[in-house]
Amino acid sequence: MFDLSGKTALVTGSGRGIGLVLARGLAKAGARVAVNDLRDDIVGAARETLRRDGIEAAGAAFDVTDREAVREGIDRLERDVAPLDILVNNAGIHRRAPLAEMSAEDWRLVIETNLTSAFLVGQRAVRGMIARRSGKIINICSLNCELPRPSIGNYAAAKGGLVLLTRSMTVEWARHNIQINGIAPGYILTEMTKPLYEDPEKNAWIIGRTPAERWGRPEELVGAAVFLASAEADFVNGHVLFVDGGMRVAL
Ligand code: NAP
Repeated sequence: MFDLSGKTALVTGSGRGIGLVLARGLAKAGARVAVNDLRDDIVGAARETLRRDGIEAAGAAFDVTDREAVREGIDRLERDVAPLDILVNNAGIHRRAPLAEMSAEDWRLVIETNLTSAFLVGQRAVRGMIARRSGKIINICSLNCELPRPSIGNYAAAKGGLVLLTRSMTVEWARHNIQINGIAPGYILTEMTKPLYEDPEKNAWIIGRTPAERWGRPEELVGAAVFLASAEADFVNGHVLFVDGGMRVAL
């Protein structure tokens, strides 16, 4: 069970953080993986990190918000490496500000990187998946897709939209034997959350508010990703799996 041998996976935004750990996890489950990030040097460094773990990853640097770059990047990967069986839409950013003061640029950037990117990359990758009648798309959502906090209105709106995009992809593409699901992480220790865990007050709030009374580690998302990418999830469609230490169910 959960064997990804013979499958090829692309993880967007996998230069570091959750994406890099998911790429490693999918590779350890047998998949050939391709890492993606904005720049060649970041992709190169991620491939080198994986090589030290005995994983020969492919790489494709492109901006997931740029339709033309996405088209070129996916086409090159499918031509030079292999057709994509698994896509993990993981790239994401934060630009924190209260909604009343948020710039239009910070709104746009966060919506484009966290939401529009999944549409663009998904749309390009699904063409081959439809032709082959097989594919898995995993959208990395967030606990904030249901529960917003002050100063992240752009991010919460994007992640909420990503849940509905997951369901919309499902109603259109499930009949082609493509399963589209989401993972909604709670608070996970990465560069993205550094401003939170380095702030004693915010850190204490997060630990106190999480029933598990701790932060999550990126490695704790791997099992969910491998499951959703595997044949064992062939009848799991449009689901969002929360991996959050119980935060979503506690007041
Ligand atoms: P991270 O450490 O900041 O990593 C995000 C990666 O995405 C970075 O390598 C970043 O590259 C890349 N990226 C940003 N914009 C991109 C673009 N336009 N094209 C290609 N790559 C791009 O963040 P993380 O914590 O691992 O988060 C990964 C995903 O999990 C995100 O979608 C995030 O919203 C979600 N998530 C995280 C948490 C958490 O607690 N950490 C919780 C819930 C959900 P640069 O460094 O070059 O910008």
